[in-house]
Amino acid sequence: MTSKNESLFEQSQKVIPGGVNSPVRAFRSVGGTPLFFQRGQGAYVWDADGKKYTDYVGSWGPMIVGHCHPQVVKAVQDAAAQGLGFGAPTASELELANLLCKILPSLEMVRLVSSGTEATMSAIRLARGFTGRSRIVKFEGCYHGHSDGLLVKAGSGALTFGQPSSSGVPAEIAALTTVLDYNDAAGLEKTFADMGKEIAAVIVEPVAGNMNLVAPKREFLDALRNLCTKHGAVLILDEVMTGFRVSLQGAQGYYGIKPDLVTLGKVMGGGLPAAAFGGRRDIMNCLAPLGAVYQAGTLSGNPVAVAAGLTTLQLVQAPGFYDNLAKLAKQLTEGLTAAAKKHNIDFCAQSVGGMFGLYFSKTLPTSYAEVMKCDKEAFNRFFHAMLDAGHYLAPSAFEAGFVSAAHTEADIAATVAAADKIFSVWQ
Ligand code: PMP
Repeated sequence: MTSKNESLFEQSQKVIPGGVNSPVRAFRSVGGTPLFFQRGQGAYVWDADGKKYTDYVGSWGPMIVGHCHPQVVKAVQDAAAQGLGFGAPTASELELANLLCKILPSLEMVRLVSSGTEATMSAIRLARGFTGRSRIVKFEGCYHGHSDGLLVKAGSGALTFGQPSSSGVPAEIAALTTVLDYNDAAGLEKTFADMGKEIAAVIVEPVAGNMNLVAPKREFLDALRNLCTKHGAVLILDEVMTGFRVSLQGAQGYYGIKPDLVTLGKVMGGGLPAAAFGGRRDIMNCLAPLGAVYQAGTLSGNPVAVAAGLTTLQLVQAPGFYDNLAKLAKQLTEGLTAAAKKHNIDFCAQSVGGMFGLYFSKTLPTSYAEVMKCDKEAFNRFFHAMLDAGHYLAPSAFEAGFVSAAHTEADIAATVAAADKIFSVWQ
């Protein structure tokens, strides 16, 4: 019998390219039929066939307080009842801007947009306008959305599909992007020595989460800051994923690194389309209508999205919120690692705050090349076995995972027990 998921996927493929509105959703990497979701509550989601899963994707990060948190839902309903959008300033977007600047000291000014892609694309243009330079530096396996100049050797869906660069990106534009190895401080130093005067900005995921999870080395973070300062380049920390995820102050707080510009998304929209970029006042002053760098958005600061974001950001400020989140993520990664070890499987895992990485590898990868050496087939088998058992992991070996405050220790223990069972018959 065809399941509802299968039937919906079949129909979707006729009207939506690949049946999905974002490539990684298609399960191409892991194989099989993607799940069509019906609803979510707390740490759980239900697919179109009514099957329940413990959710470790959380809408790719935003669902940090769990699905349908009553306060978030109420705020959204209240905002919607007041008007779905005006395309004009509102008091609530001021409140969100103030809150973002209060939580992140590196934000002297901030502008709201609707997606992470917009935030990074705009931050790059701003850095170019501010410096009068054209070249940008990014790192292989880091994903910063799908704007032309950033879709060069990118991570996430682009990695899954083995198309590090996209067709349709003009070679002339890609040529302005220098791609270096993540965590390679010496490579960065050499590039700055060679072409420091050309570099407008370095953009980096301070914890890489789009090539599975790769944690930054201290010397790499220090080199980023010092070299950008020395050569007058703008350091853009892309905290779309890590912001309000690895700690309240994101990776910049977790590691103590001060960016010039920051990009935010995911958690700050509470599941709705809200994102932002901001940072140094002298740089932000270059934006229209004050300055010559143009950037705009009909939906920017949308009141319903802002309500979801504001409420979520209020909830994450509860005392102990991030300690609990980090504890849950650790319980998961340590539990899975112990289960694999018991059954002699080459597997390891790590977490940073509320995000985690799982690797079918003997050691934790520290670079894109090492991530590529992990056993992708083993991950795919594991993914499907876990999915059958009711545990929804990211459907790709190249994505980080997320826990929420709605997960309980019992949820995590059940996930670890399911993995233990799978590993016990692993060959
Ligand atoms: N930057 C990072 C670090 C991301 O993880 C993502 C999305 N996964 C983006 C940018 C792009 O955000 P969006 O999908 O909202 O355009």
